[in-house]
Amino acid sequence: MSELLFGIDATLKNLEEKGHTLSWTRKNQFEGCQAQWFLTNICRLAPETIICPLLREDTYALPGWVIQKLFETYINSRIYRKFGSVDSAMEWFNKNLVLLCETVTQFSYEDQMNIKSVRYFFESEEGKRFTEIARGRGLDPSVEGLQICFVDPCVFARVNKDWDSFYVKISNILRKVLEMWARDGVNLDLMLCESEIDLDLNLGIDTFHIEGFTDYIYNTYGMECFDSIEKLRDGYTLLDGKYNLSRFVHEEQLYLYSTALSIMTGRVPEFMMFLEYKGCRYKAFQFDRGYISRLRESCMRMSSVLSALKSWLTSLRVSDPEQRDFDATKAPVIFTPNAISCCFCLGRDVCPSFVTDKELQKQTANFVGKKAKDRVMKEFESLDPSVINICTF
Ligand code: SF4
Repeated sequence: MSELLFGIDATLKNLEEKGHTLSWTRKNQFEGCQAQWFLTNICRLAPETIICPLLREDTYALPGWVIQKLFETYINSRIYRKFGSVDSAMEWFNKNLVLLCETVTQFSYEDQMNIKSVRYFFESEEGKRFTEIARGRGLDPSVEGLQICFVDPCVFARVNKDWDSFYVKISNILRKVLEMWARDGVNLDLMLCESEIDLDLNLGIDTFHIEGFTDYIYNTYGMECFDSIEKLRDGYTLLDGKYNLSRFVHEEQLYLYSTALSIMTGRVPEFMMFLEYKGCRYKAFQFDRGYISRLRESCMRMSSVLSALKSWLTSLRVSDPEQRDFDATKAPVIFTPNAISCCFCLGRDVCPSFVTDKELQKQTANFVGKKAKDRVMKEFESLDPSVINICTF
Protein backbone atom coordinates (compact mmCIF):
# COMPACT_ATOMS: atom_id res chain seq x y z
CA MET A 1 0.00 0.00 0.00
CA SER A 2 1.33 3.39 -0.87
CA GLU A 3 1.84 6.05 1.72
CA LEU A 4 -1.40 7.59 2.88
CA LEU A 5 -1.57 11.20 1.73
CA PHE A 6 -3.44 13.98 3.45
CA GLY A 7 -4.34 17.34 1.97
CA ILE A 8 -2.83 20.41 3.69
CA ASP A 9 -5.72 22.78 2.90
CA ALA A 10 -8.47 20.30 3.74
CA THR A 11 -6.77 19.38 7.00
CA LEU A 12 -6.19 23.01 8.00
CA LYS A 13 -9.84 23.78 7.30
CA ASN A 14 -10.97 20.79 9.32
CA LEU A 15 -8.64 21.74 12.16
CA GLU A 16 -10.18 25.23 12.27
CA GLU A 17 -13.76 23.97 12.10
CA LYS A 18 -13.67 20.74 14.10
CA GLY A 19 -10.39 20.70 16.04
CA HIS A 20 -12.08 21.84 19.24
CA THR A 21 -14.83 19.23 19.06
CA LEU A 22 -14.73 16.98 22.08
CA SER A 23 -16.47 13.64 22.39
CA TRP A 24 -15.57 10.75 24.65
CA THR A 25 -14.00 8.91 21.71
CA ARG A 26 -11.90 11.91 20.67
CA LYS A 27 -10.73 12.61 24.20
CA ASN A 28 -9.91 8.96 24.78
CA GLN A 29 -7.97 8.76 21.53
CA PHE A 30 -6.06 11.94 22.35
CA GLU A 31 -5.03 10.60 25.73
CA GLY A 32 -4.22 7.10 24.42
CA CYS A 33 -2.19 8.22 21.38
CA GLN A 34 -2.16 11.78 20.05
CA ALA A 35 -1.22 10.50 16.59
CA GLN A 36 -4.34 8.33 16.45
CA TRP A 37 -6.51 11.30 17.41
CA PHE A 38 -4.81 13.40 14.72
CA LEU A 39 -5.11 10.78 11.96
CA THR A 40 -8.71 9.93 12.75
CA ASN A 41 -10.23 13.30 13.54
CA ILE A 42 -8.09 16.10 12.15
CA CYS A 43 -6.43 14.79 9.00
CA ARG A 44 -8.40 15.06 5.79
CA LEU A 45 -7.57 13.09 2.72
CA ALA A 46 -5.86 14.20 -0.43
CA PRO A 47 -8.38 14.37 -3.30
CA GLU A 48 -6.99 11.34 -5.13
CA THR A 49 -7.64 8.97 -2.21
CA ILE A 50 -9.97 6.05 -2.76
CA ILE A 51 -12.18 5.49 0.23
CA CYS A 52 -12.79 1.85 0.73
CA PRO A 53 -15.55 0.80 3.11
CA LEU A 54 -14.65 -2.87 3.00
CA LEU A 55 -11.66 -2.29 5.21
CA ARG A 56 -13.90 -1.38 8.13
CA GLU A 57 -15.28 -4.36 9.92
CA ASP A 58 -18.12 -4.10 12.40
CA THR A 59 -18.81 -7.71 13.32
CA TYR A 60 -17.58 -7.15 16.88
CA ALA A 61 -19.69 -4.03 17.33
CA LEU A 62 -22.83 -5.51 15.78
CA PRO A 63 -24.42 -7.14 18.88
CA GLY A 64 -24.19 -4.00 21.03
CA TRP A 65 -25.41 -1.72 18.24
CA VAL A 66 -28.39 -3.88 17.35
CA ILE A 67 -29.48 -4.30 20.98
CA GLN A 68 -29.10 -0.57 21.59
CA LYS A 69 -31.04 0.35 18.45
CA LEU A 70 -33.95 -1.96 19.30
CA PHE A 71 -34.19 -0.71 22.89
CA GLU A 72 -33.94 2.89 21.71
CA THR A 73 -36.88 2.38 19.35
CA TYR A 74 -38.88 0.37 21.89
CA ILE A 75 -38.51 3.12 24.51
CA ASN A 76 -38.52 6.39 22.53
CA SER A 77 -41.43 5.35 20.31
CA ARG A 78 -43.23 4.04 23.44
CA ILE A 79 -43.78 0.70 21.71
CA TYR A 80 -43.80 -1.11 25.10
CA ARG A 81 -47.26 0.36 25.73
CA LYS A 82 -48.71 -2.00 23.12
CA PHE A 83 -47.63 -5.10 25.04
CA GLY A 84 -48.78 -6.50 28.36
CA SER A 85 -45.95 -8.96 28.93
CA VAL A 86 -42.34 -9.72 28.10
CA ASP A 87 -43.50 -12.67 25.97
CA SER A 88 -45.65 -10.51 23.72
CA ALA A 89 -42.95 -7.81 23.48
CA MET A 90 -40.45 -10.46 22.41
CA GLU A 91 -42.44 -11.12 19.25
CA TRP A 92 -41.77 -7.50 18.22
CA PHE A 93 -38.08 -7.76 19.19
CA ASN A 94 -37.47 -11.05 17.38
CA LYS A 95 -39.09 -9.90 14.17
CA ASN A 96 -37.29 -6.57 14.09
CA LEU A 97 -33.98 -8.08 15.14
CA VAL A 98 -33.90 -10.34 12.07
CA LEU A 99 -35.15 -7.71 9.65
CA LEU A 100 -32.76 -5.06 10.95
CA CYS A 101 -29.73 -7.34 10.72
CA GLU A 102 -30.66 -8.55 7.25
CA THR A 103 -31.13 -4.99 6.09
CA VAL A 104 -27.83 -3.60 7.31
CA THR A 105 -25.46 -6.52 6.90
CA GLN A 106 -26.40 -9.04 4.29
CA PHE A 107 -25.88 -7.42 0.93
CA SER A 108 -23.28 -8.06 -1.73
CA TYR A 109 -19.68 -6.87 -1.76
CA GLU A 110 -20.46 -4.98 -4.93
CA ASP A 111 -23.23 -3.02 -3.23
CA GLN A 112 -20.99 -2.36 -0.26
CA MET A 113 -18.30 -1.01 -2.53
CA ASN A 114 -20.79 1.36 -4.11
CA ILE A 115 -22.11 2.87 -0.92
CA LYS A 116 -19.93 5.92 -0.37
CA SER A 117 -20.29 6.09 3.37
CA VAL A 118 -21.88 2.98 4.80
CA ARG A 119 -21.84 4.63 8.21
CA TYR A 120 -24.82 6.58 6.97
CA PHE A 121 -26.38 3.51 5.44
CA PHE A 122 -29.99 4.58 6.01
CA GLU A 123 -29.39 7.87 4.23
CA SER A 124 -27.75 6.35 1.14
CA GLU A 125 -29.74 5.48 -1.97
CA GLU A 126 -28.90 1.78 -1.60
CA GLY A 127 -29.72 1.90 2.11
CA LYS A 128 -33.11 3.47 1.36
CA ARG A 129 -33.82 0.71 -1.15
CA PHE A 130 -32.92 -2.09 1.29
CA THR A 131 -34.90 -0.42 4.07
CA GLU A 132 -37.97 -0.12 1.86
CA ILE A 133 -37.85 -3.86 1.17
CA ALA A 134 -37.51 -4.62 4.90
CA ARG A 135 -40.43 -2.29 5.72
CA GLY A 136 -42.52 -4.30 3.22
CA ARG A 137 -41.61 -7.42 5.18
CA GLY A 138 -42.67 -5.85 8.46
CA LEU A 139 -39.68 -3.87 9.83
CA ASP A 140 -41.18 -1.38 12.29
CA PRO A 141 -41.11 2.11 10.68
CA SER A 142 -39.60 3.54 13.87
CA VAL A 143 -36.47 1.37 13.54
CA GLU A 144 -33.96 3.42 11.60
CA GLY A 145 -30.57 5.03 11.56
CA LEU A 146 -28.17 2.30 12.69
CA GLN A 147 -24.70 3.53 11.77
CA ILE A 148 -22.88 0.47 10.64
CA CYS A 149 -20.00 -0.06 8.25
CA PHE A 150 -19.56 -3.57 7.05
CA VAL A 151 -19.99 -7.08 8.33
CA ASP A 152 -17.61 -9.45 6.60
CA PRO A 153 -19.21 -12.92 6.32
CA CYS A 154 -15.83 -14.58 6.96
CA VAL A 155 -15.30 -12.66 10.19
CA PHE A 156 -18.93 -13.12 11.18
CA ALA A 157 -18.70 -16.90 10.73
CA ARG A 158 -15.57 -17.00 12.88
CA VAL A 159 -17.14 -15.01 15.72
CA ASN A 160 -20.71 -16.38 15.54
CA LYS A 161 -21.55 -19.84 14.30
CA ASP A 162 -24.28 -18.68 11.92
CA TRP A 163 -27.05 -16.10 11.74
CA ASP A 164 -29.63 -18.32 13.48
CA SER A 165 -27.33 -18.83 16.49
CA PHE A 166 -26.63 -15.09 16.52
CA TYR A 167 -30.36 -14.27 16.59
CA VAL A 168 -30.98 -16.74 19.44
CA LYS A 169 -28.10 -15.23 21.43
CA ILE A 170 -29.30 -11.64 20.97
CA SER A 171 -32.93 -12.55 21.57
CA ASN A 172 -32.01 -14.19 24.91
CA ILE A 173 -30.18 -11.04 25.97
CA LEU A 174 -33.10 -8.78 25.00
CA ARG A 175 -35.47 -10.98 26.98
CA LYS A 176 -33.24 -11.04 30.07
CA VAL A 177 -32.95 -7.22 30.13
CA LEU A 178 -36.73 -6.82 29.73
CA GLU A 179 -37.30 -9.32 32.55
CA MET A 180 -34.79 -7.49 34.75
CA TRP A 181 -36.54 -4.15 34.14
CA ALA A 182 -39.95 -5.74 34.89
CA ARG A 183 -38.58 -7.33 38.09
CA ASP A 184 -36.99 -4.05 39.25
CA GLY A 185 -40.19 -2.08 38.54
CA VAL A 186 -38.46 0.19 36.01
CA ASN A 187 -41.02 2.64 34.63
CA LEU A 188 -40.13 2.98 30.93
CA ASP A 189 -42.24 6.16 30.77
CA LEU A 190 -39.40 7.81 32.72
CA MET A 191 -36.72 6.65 30.29
CA LEU A 192 -35.38 8.48 27.24
CA CYS A 193 -32.72 7.17 24.83
CA GLU A 194 -30.22 8.93 22.57
CA SER A 195 -30.50 12.42 24.02
CA GLU A 196 -28.10 14.75 22.30
CA ILE A 197 -25.26 16.42 24.17
CA ASP A 198 -24.35 19.66 22.47
CA LEU A 199 -22.42 22.10 24.60
CA ASP A 200 -19.93 24.94 24.11
CA LEU A 201 -17.62 24.67 27.07
CA ASN A 202 -15.23 27.44 28.02
CA LEU A 203 -13.05 26.56 30.99
CA GLY A 204 -10.83 29.61 30.63
CA ILE A 205 -8.85 28.14 27.70
CA ASP A 206 -10.35 27.90 24.19
CA THR A 207 -13.99 27.05 23.73
CA PHE A 208 -14.46 23.32 23.20
CA HIS A 209 -17.59 21.88 21.72
CA ILE A 210 -18.80 18.72 23.46
CA GLU A 211 -20.84 16.43 21.25
CA GLY A 212 -22.37 13.05 21.85
CA PHE A 213 -25.44 11.08 22.77
CA THR A 214 -26.53 9.44 26.00
CA ASP A 215 -27.82 5.87 25.61
CA TYR A 216 -30.42 6.12 28.41
CA ILE A 217 -31.50 8.72 30.93
CA TYR A 218 -33.77 7.56 33.75
CA ASN A 219 -35.64 10.56 35.12
CA THR A 220 -36.00 9.01 38.58
CA TYR A 221 -38.12 11.74 40.19
CA GLY A 222 -40.12 12.72 37.10
CA MET A 223 -43.90 12.94 37.38
CA GLU A 224 -44.92 12.52 33.74
CA CYS A 225 -43.72 10.79 30.60
CA PHE A 226 -40.09 11.78 30.00
CA ASP A 227 -40.16 12.70 26.35
CA SER A 228 -38.02 15.81 26.28
CA ILE A 229 -34.88 16.87 28.08
CA GLU A 230 -36.68 19.94 29.51
CA LYS A 231 -38.55 17.60 31.86
CA LEU A 232 -35.34 16.36 33.48
CA ARG A 233 -35.20 16.56 37.30
CA ASP A 234 -32.26 16.46 39.72
CA GLY A 235 -31.29 12.99 40.89
CA TYR A 236 -31.63 11.21 37.54
CA THR A 237 -29.50 8.27 36.43
CA LEU A 238 -27.44 8.28 33.27
CA LEU A 239 -26.89 4.86 31.71
CA ASP A 240 -24.62 3.69 28.95
CA GLY A 241 -25.29 0.34 27.29
CA LYS A 242 -22.33 -1.94 26.55
CA TYR A 243 -22.41 -5.40 25.06
CA ASN A 244 -19.85 -6.43 27.65
CA LEU A 245 -17.68 -4.58 30.11
CA SER A 246 -14.37 -5.27 28.44
CA ARG A 247 -10.99 -3.64 29.00
CA PHE A 248 -11.97 -1.02 26.40
CA VAL A 249 -14.75 0.34 28.59
CA HIS A 250 -13.86 3.17 30.92
CA GLU A 251 -16.09 4.98 33.40
CA GLU A 252 -14.60 8.33 32.41
CA GLN A 253 -17.01 8.26 29.50
CA LEU A 254 -19.83 8.53 32.04
CA TYR A 255 -18.09 11.39 33.87
CA LEU A 256 -17.66 13.39 30.67
CA TYR A 257 -21.25 13.11 29.49
CA SER A 258 -22.86 13.50 32.93
CA THR A 259 -20.77 16.64 33.51
CA ALA A 260 -21.77 18.03 30.09
CA LEU A 261 -25.42 17.14 30.64
CA SER A 262 -25.49 18.75 34.07
CA ILE A 263 -23.99 22.00 32.66
CA MET A 264 -26.40 21.94 29.71
CA THR A 265 -29.56 21.33 31.72
CA GLY A 266 -28.65 22.65 35.18
CA ARG A 267 -29.83 19.25 36.50
CA VAL A 268 -27.46 17.05 38.45
CA PRO A 269 -27.53 13.25 38.26
CA GLU A 270 -27.25 11.02 41.29
CA PHE A 271 -25.86 7.94 39.59
CA MET A 272 -24.14 6.96 36.39
CA MET A 273 -24.19 3.34 35.29
CA PHE A 274 -23.03 0.96 32.64
CA LEU A 275 -25.71 -1.49 31.61
CA GLU A 276 -23.92 -4.62 30.45
CA TYR A 277 -26.22 -6.48 28.07
CA LYS A 278 -24.37 -9.79 27.91
CA GLY A 279 -24.23 -10.31 31.68
CA CYS A 280 -27.52 -8.43 32.24
CA ARG A 281 -26.10 -6.35 35.09
CA TYR A 282 -25.31 -2.78 36.08
CA LYS A 283 -22.08 -1.20 37.21
CA ALA A 284 -22.79 2.04 39.05
CA PHE A 285 -20.72 5.14 39.87
CA GLN A 286 -21.55 8.26 41.82
CA PHE A 287 -21.57 11.61 40.01
CA ASP A 288 -18.20 13.36 40.47
CA ARG A 289 -18.32 17.15 40.76
CA GLY A 290 -14.50 17.27 40.70
CA TYR A 291 -14.29 15.84 37.17
CA ILE A 292 -14.49 19.31 35.61
CA SER A 293 -10.96 20.22 36.77
CA ARG A 294 -9.52 17.06 35.15
CA LEU A 295 -11.44 17.93 31.99
CA ARG A 296 -9.88 21.38 32.03
CA GLU A 297 -6.37 19.88 32.09
CA SER A 298 -7.19 17.69 29.07
CA CYS A 299 -8.55 20.69 27.19
CA MET A 300 -5.33 22.61 27.91
CA ARG A 301 -3.19 19.79 26.50
CA MET A 302 -5.38 19.45 23.42
CA SER A 303 -5.38 23.18 22.87
CA SER A 304 -1.59 23.35 22.86
CA VAL A 305 -1.29 20.40 20.39
CA LEU A 306 -3.90 22.00 18.11
CA SER A 307 -1.96 25.21 18.02
CA ALA A 308 1.34 23.38 17.26
CA LEU A 309 -0.39 21.49 14.41
CA LYS A 310 -1.80 24.67 12.96
CA SER A 311 1.64 26.35 12.92
CA TRP A 312 3.24 23.24 11.37
CA LEU A 313 0.67 22.89 8.58
CA THR A 314 0.78 26.63 7.87
CA SER A 315 4.58 26.54 7.65
CA LEU A 316 4.40 23.66 5.12
CA ARG A 317 2.08 25.73 3.00
CA VAL A 318 4.28 28.84 3.23
CA SER A 319 7.63 27.11 2.61
CA ASP A 320 6.41 25.46 -0.60
CA PRO A 321 3.23 26.92 -2.11
CA GLU A 322 3.19 24.06 -4.65
CA GLN A 323 3.02 21.37 -1.98
CA ARG A 324 -0.53 20.10 -1.51
CA ASP A 325 -0.08 16.91 0.52
CA PHE A 326 1.70 16.12 3.74
CA ASP A 327 3.10 13.09 5.49
CA ALA A 328 1.16 12.66 8.74
CA THR A 329 3.94 10.69 10.38
CA LYS A 330 6.03 13.91 10.55
CA ALA A 331 3.38 15.90 12.42
CA PRO A 332 4.12 17.35 15.88
CA VAL A 333 2.07 14.76 17.77
CA ILE A 334 3.26 11.99 20.05
CA PHE A 335 2.97 8.38 18.85
CA THR A 336 2.16 6.15 21.81
CA PRO A 337 1.83 2.55 20.62
CA ASN A 338 -0.27 0.45 22.95
CA ALA A 339 -2.52 -2.56 22.54
CA ILE A 340 -5.72 -0.67 23.29
CA SER A 341 -5.28 2.37 21.01
CA CYS A 342 -3.65 0.46 18.13
CA CYS A 343 -6.51 -2.08 18.05
CA PHE A 344 -8.90 0.48 16.63
CA CYS A 345 -6.49 2.84 14.91
CA LEU A 346 -7.14 3.57 11.27
CA GLY A 347 -3.56 4.65 10.78
CA ARG A 348 -1.91 1.30 11.45
CA ASP A 349 -0.78 0.79 7.85
CA VAL A 350 1.23 4.00 7.79
CA CYS A 351 2.20 4.31 11.44
CA PRO A 352 5.98 3.90 11.87
CA SER A 353 5.53 2.76 15.48
CA PHE A 354 3.05 0.06 14.53
CA VAL A 355 4.54 -1.35 11.33
CA THR A 356 7.87 -2.04 13.04
CA ASP A 357 6.41 -3.66 16.17
CA LYS A 358 5.70 -7.34 15.53
CA GLU A 359 4.58 -8.03 19.10
CA LEU A 360 2.00 -5.24 18.96
CA GLN A 361 0.74 -6.51 15.60
CA LYS A 362 0.24 -9.93 17.18
CA GLN A 363 -1.65 -8.48 20.15
CA THR A 364 -4.01 -6.53 17.89
CA ALA A 365 -4.31 -9.07 15.06
CA ASN A 366 -7.98 -9.93 15.67
CA PHE A 367 -9.03 -6.44 14.85
CA VAL A 368 -7.26 -6.03 11.55
CA GLY A 369 -9.94 -7.59 9.29
CA LYS A 370 -7.24 -9.15 7.16
CA LYS A 371 -9.49 -11.14 4.86
CA ALA A 372 -11.51 -8.09 3.89
CA LYS A 373 -8.31 -6.22 3.27
CA ASP A 374 -6.89 -8.91 0.98
CA ARG A 375 -10.07 -8.81 -1.06
CA VAL A 376 -9.90 -5.05 -1.36
CA MET A 377 -6.29 -5.09 -2.47
CA LYS A 378 -7.29 -7.55 -5.18
CA GLU A 379 -10.04 -5.17 -6.34
CA PHE A 380 -7.45 -2.45 -6.86
CA GLU A 381 -4.53 -4.49 -8.17
CA SER A 382 -4.87 -3.09 -11.68
CA LEU A 383 -4.35 0.46 -10.42
CA ASP A 384 -0.97 2.10 -10.12
CA PRO A 385 -0.09 1.84 -6.40
CA SER A 386 2.12 4.94 -6.52
CA VAL A 387 -0.81 7.26 -7.21
CA ILE A 388 -3.55 5.61 -5.18
CA ASN A 389 -4.19 5.77 -1.50
CA ILE A 390 -6.65 3.24 -0.22
CA CYS A 391 -8.14 4.44 2.92
CA THR A 392 -10.30 2.96 5.66
CA PHE A 393 -11.72 6.27 6.89
S1 SF4 B 1 -1.06 2.57 15.20
FE1 SF4 B 1 -0.87 2.85 17.41
S2 SF4 B 1 0.94 4.14 17.71
FE2 SF4 B 1 0.32 4.30 15.58
S3 SF4 B 1 -0.95 6.11 15.49
FE3 SF4 B 1 -2.27 4.33 15.76
S4 SF4 B 1 -2.56 4.17 17.96
FE4 SF4 B 1 -0.81 5.50 17.64
